Amino acid sequence: MTDSPSGTAPFRSSFTQNAAARTDAERAAILADPGFGVNFTDHMFLTEWTPAEGWHDARVVPYGPLLLDPATAVLHYAQEIFEGLKAYRHADGSVWAFRIEANAERLQRSAHRLALPALPVEWFTGSVQALVTADEAWVPSGEETSLYLRPFMFASEAFLGVRPSKHVTYSVIASPAGAYFPGGVTAVDLWLSSTYSRAGAGGTGAAKCGGNYAASLLPQAEAAEQGCAQVVFLDATEQRWIEELGGMNLYFVQSDGSIVTPELSGSILEGITRDSIMTIAGDLGHQVVERRVSIDEWREGVADGTITEVFACGTAAVVTPVGRLKWDGGEVATEAAADGTSGKVTAEIRSALVDVQYGRAEDRHGWMTRLA
Ligand SMILES: *Cc1c(COP(=O)(O)O)cnc(C)c1O
Repeated sequence: MTDSPSGTAPFRSSFTQNAAARTDAERAAILADPGFGVNFTDHMFLTEWTPAEGWHDARVVPYGPLLLDPATAVLHYAQEIFEGLKAYRHADGSVWAFRIEANAERLQRSAHRLALPALPVEWFTGSVQALVTADEAWVPSGEETSLYLRPFMFASEAFLGVRPSKHVTYSVIASPAGAYFPGGVTAVDLWLSSTYSRAGAGGTGAAKCGGNYAASLLPQAEAAEQGCAQVVFLDATEQRWIEELGGMNLYFVQSDGSIVTPELSGSILEGITRDSIMTIAGDLGHQVVERRVSIDEWREGVADGTITEVFACGTAAVVTPVGRLKWDGGEVATEAAADGTSGKVTAEIRSALVDVQYGRAEDRHGWMTRLA
């Protein structure tokens, strides 16, 4: 296994200025309406790994295309993992990351499952810091805007044999992101897939890898046909236990004020937002329970009022209220579906978390790291 970062030196990166960087006016025009994942900053971070050298040649260079041999292993066998986090601008102009070490550690766990080399935590934080320092002017300052950071690692050896790649590339790119809910938080409807699973026991469900997303696109298209924004996946074995959405974890608010999230099953992605909500909701006085939740409990709970609110969570949208759960032959709707907005507990948890991220509330748990 290639987990040992042996041979890797302490983090130090070089910088090559982009001679064709956008002007202040061009950047301002993009930041005025950044969208999501369509515009990228002027630079990118790159480093490579080989068994002999470990991670080496860390550099921030002009953003641009990668030149890949057609035999590059990732294009054939999908040996690839990624992360997603945001840089938040605070009112005093400083720029911060939220629980960046948790992203670094999750990338290491994903790497282990995909037989990729571990990137040392200091290299992960260093890579993000180096890119955000270079492109600090790209961090927007509007309400609930951020610079979305996408670290990713892939098998870059040109070889068609099936084995872990002996040349690996790690990169970070950055994309300014507008508010996820520009007109205020709105509820989404979910589609229960009875045909497809996201991940099976012993599979890659707990790793943040591109392959899981590839497998979710067809059921996602099915959901869209049903007028739903996302798919709910059940466990692959019994088709009974709620796992998560294609890219977000789930929470249920019960009538007694407690909140429940499906316990980690080995095929659920361990969301950092999911984990943070356990702490934040506890701070707010809610009892938090991790346990198995069946699809029948969801349907019956919403119908009889035991479940008062349902929400999804992840870095991109933070917390998204769920209106309807639809399936082939029926649907149940929480109150959020009626007026299209958040339930009270959902809104309370969302605000508490966003206030920490944007520096409006005290960082009681040491979650924030200054980047610039
Ligand atoms: C990234 C991801 C999440 C959410 O994780 P966060 O760390 O909260 O952003 C949930 N489910 C899947 C499948 C994911 O890939």
